Formats: sequence, C-alpha cells, structure tokens
Amino acid sequence: MTTPARRCRIRPPSVEFTAFCQLYRRAYLDYARARTGSDSCAQHAVEATIERLAHQWHVALRSACLQASAWAVLRAATADHDACRPPENPFAYEGLLAPSQADAVLLHQCLGWDIEKAAELMGAHPSSLRGWLTTAALALGLRAPE
Ligand SMILES: [Zn+2]
Repeated sequence: MTTPARRCRIRPPSVEFTAFCQLYRRAYLDYARARTGSDSCAQHAVEATIERLAHQWHVALRSACLQASAWAVLRAATADHDACRPPENPFAYEGLLAPSQADAVLLHQCLGWDIEKAAELMGAHPSSLRGWLTTAALALGLRAPE
C-alpha cells in the first residue's frame, strides 16, 4: 500500500537568504554573545533569528531596509535571553538607553566595529549611528565619541 504523495510545504531557502545568512551570521553571533554573555544563548538567539527570518523572508525583502528588518528580529530574539544574563552584566547601561543607542554602543564601543560596519549591520545610515553614540554618551554622562 502506498501513501498518497503530499506536497512538502517547506520550501528550500532561496539563494539570497542563504547568502544573507552567510554574510551576517558571524556578526550576529558576536552581537548576541556580547549581549547575552553566553555562547549557547547567542547560538539559540541567532538560530531563532534565522528561523524567523526564513518564515518572513519575502516580507523582509520588500521592507524599506532588509538589514534593518533583520536587525529588529535579531534584537528581539536576543532580548528573549535577557533573563539568562548574569547579574553582573557589563551591559547594564542598556536600560538607560533606547535600543538603537544601546546597540550602537555595543557594536562600536564594546566590540570595536567601525561606524560604517556597525551601521550596515543595523541597517542604519552611518550618521544615524554617530547620532545614537552621541546621545548615548550624553545619557550616560560620558564624553561624546570623536
Ligand atoms: Zn538564554
């Protein structure tokens, strides 16, 4: 007896999706590891990001900025692990900043990425990133970046 053939509803990932993941996965892991303080949380957050992106890839492709859409997914997936962080979390300043400011500080000042690379990753203009760094410094009572 043979079972009737059913059409698989899971489509293989597109070439664009695979390329996007290859391009940003490493950077996403660095960000998630810095935010969560854990390799395994970072791995889970990035896997969840890729899974969510795969499901909404066609929507993300039509968004105003693919990187910005993907970054929002990553930020949310990483925030799912906020409760996992140790109490002596070095990124406790996050609560004092808007999400974009906190991400800019983490990418540029904690991970040491240049403005252009950090901005590309977040799907933002470099001038926006500079603005977030400046307002973050003011909010934290620090010297503004040069
Ligand atoms: Zn976790």
